Amino acid sequence: METYEITTLKMGTLIAEKSSLTMGVDFGKEIAIPMWSVAIQGAGHKILVDTGIRSLDWVKEYLGDQYDVLQEEDETMEGALKAIGWNTEEVDIVINTHLHYDHVGCNHLFRNARFYVQKREWEYSFEPVENQKCFYFEDLYGWSAVRYPQWKMVEGEYEVLPGLKLIPLGGHTPGSQGVLVNTQEGTVCIAADTIGLMENLWDNVLPNIMYDCTSGFRAFDTVRSRAEFVIPGHDGIMEKFQKGNFPGIYKEEARA
Ligand SMILES: [Zn+2]
Repeated sequence: METYEITTLKMGTLIAEKSSLTMGVDFGKEIAIPMWSVAIQGAGHKILVDTGIRSLDWVKEYLGDQYDVLQEEDETMEGALKAIGWNTEEVDIVINTHLHYDHVGCNHLFRNARFYVQKREWEYSFEPVENQKCFYFEDLYGWSAVRYPQWKMVEGEYEVLPGLKLIPLGGHTPGSQGVLVNTQEGTVCIAADTIGLMENLWDNVLPNIMYDCTSGFRAFDTVRSRAEFVIPGHDGIMEKFQKGNFPGIYKEEARA
């Protein structure tokens, strides 16, 4: 079976209220939450999962003072790719786990890529529930960013390449998907905001930005049964795991 090499790319850091990531836990506690994109190489392809925020200026213009956002030069998309010897033209596959602004901000840079999203997420993005309207900006993923023929709308589980699969997870948004990747160490699930922090999975605590709690808990079970390692969407723990040896699905293993 084909195996892939994974490198996580830090796309900047949001300063946020922790309980936005852990429902009912740690109200009033501020934490720094990095935004992680993931570069995957293998089977003759260069694959990127999620594309971060567009820029600090974009955040200031569209989100105002809601968040403090930090982004170093090597945390911009071009800077982060350069650090691993890639450029935007040679990325041939982009997978969006979902269409929130901090996961699609640099979609427009990948003119040669095929883009994968769940059809359900695409449709939902134009009609989100009231408290999620603030996360969707069509300009970041619509025609002005990605030409429609570049999109591959997926319904349910889908094998992109041998050993690289999309799985619907839901929870955070109705069309959120994870990416299962075969690596030499085992199967890694790139879980994005379905498991924003490892604490979500390890302590069975849902993220607070949540479309549907039932599917959120089911997604934890799906990840536990399908993967041995997880790449969470916003956990500072990933600073220690940027290349290989990703956090295991059980807390006990991570502590050992
Ligand atoms: Zn999100």
